[in-house]
Amino acid sequence: MASPSASSSSSLSEEELTLIVKWSGKEYTVRVCGDDSVGELKRRICEVTNVLPKRQKLLYPKIGSKLADDSVLLSQLPLKSSLKMTMIGTVEDDIIVDQVDSPEIIDDFELGQDEAVDIKDKEVNKQKLRRRIDQYKIVLRNPCRKGKKLLVLDIDYTLFDHRSTGENPLQLMRPYLHEFLTAVYAEYDIIIWSATSMKWVEVKMEQLGVLDNPNYKITALLDHLAMITVQSESRGVFDCKPLGLIWAQFPEFYTSKNTIMFDDLRRNFVMNPQNGLIIKPFRKAHANRDSDQELVKLTQYLLSIAELDDLSLLDHKTWDLYAEDNTKRRRHA
Ligand SMILES: [Mg+2]
Repeated sequence: MASPSASSSSSLSEEELTLIVKWSGKEYTVRVCGDDSVGELKRRICEVTNVLPKRQKLLYPKIGSKLADDSVLLSQLPLKSSLKMTMIGTVEDDIIVDQVDSPEIIDDFELGQDEAVDIKDKEVNKQKLRRRIDQYKIVLRNPCRKGKKLLVLDIDYTLFDHRSTGENPLQLMRPYLHEFLTAVYAEYDIIIWSATSMKWVEVKMEQLGVLDNPNYKITALLDHLAMITVQSESRGVFDCKPLGLIWAQFPEFYTSKNTIMFDDLRRNFVMNPQNGLIIKPFRKAHANRDSDQELVKLTQYLLSIAELDDLSLLDHKTWDLYAEDNTKRRRHA
């Protein structure tokens, strides 16, 4: 049996807290735990109020200033269950949805191998994932298809240059997007997962003509509320996209063996490093849209690996070599 002191220190961080948030004349209940950051608390509040985390100001006597720092862990604050705090903020519907709603650019970083393994295997992170699986229900826009692999795509800088301005969003779309989606749809179900709000994801994908394209179907859209926050020793607190959330909800279709995710930020893969492919960011759309060929090359890669039983055995870091070799092999065959 664990000693009383050990169990109390672990329960301090793992214990669930029920907080009451007063906003706009009503009270909302959110469930968090000590290992969650202020950023995660704001996401939970967003789930019940629709006020985006970055538009929330949380007020509570004495700890108000700490609530302004998203990276602070709740276990570091003197919070008790049933505590009432006040939130000030405006819902997204009342604000024009535009590219300003996408998150700030944060430089990518590479965690040391050991540290990355550590994050993935940490019990506290597995627990966060389990909670997210319970809380976040993926809504299918189209049925999962038996026998298909799964491609999960980020939006910002992966499919779209959200930082440039254009008269028409199509000017900021990565070249060959529809050709790419059409070709890979033959072998892959497609899920789009962005670290922004669902509203922004829907608006953006609709504007680009992705949601009603006759040549392929999108299985589901996921947003920032599906992400979890993890801690690393060298980089502090950051958010990531745990594919385990998808695998847990559709185990008969998607697994760690048949899933690949494209993202321009490596840290988004930290819970499933073997399933991530870092795509070259598509920036400065006006200068690069005539020359960017990434999606053409990645189409070849995805189609050539589609026959494999276990995609997680591949080293996606060298995907361009694989695609090249494969083209050569075919030419010589
Ligand atoms: Mg991105």
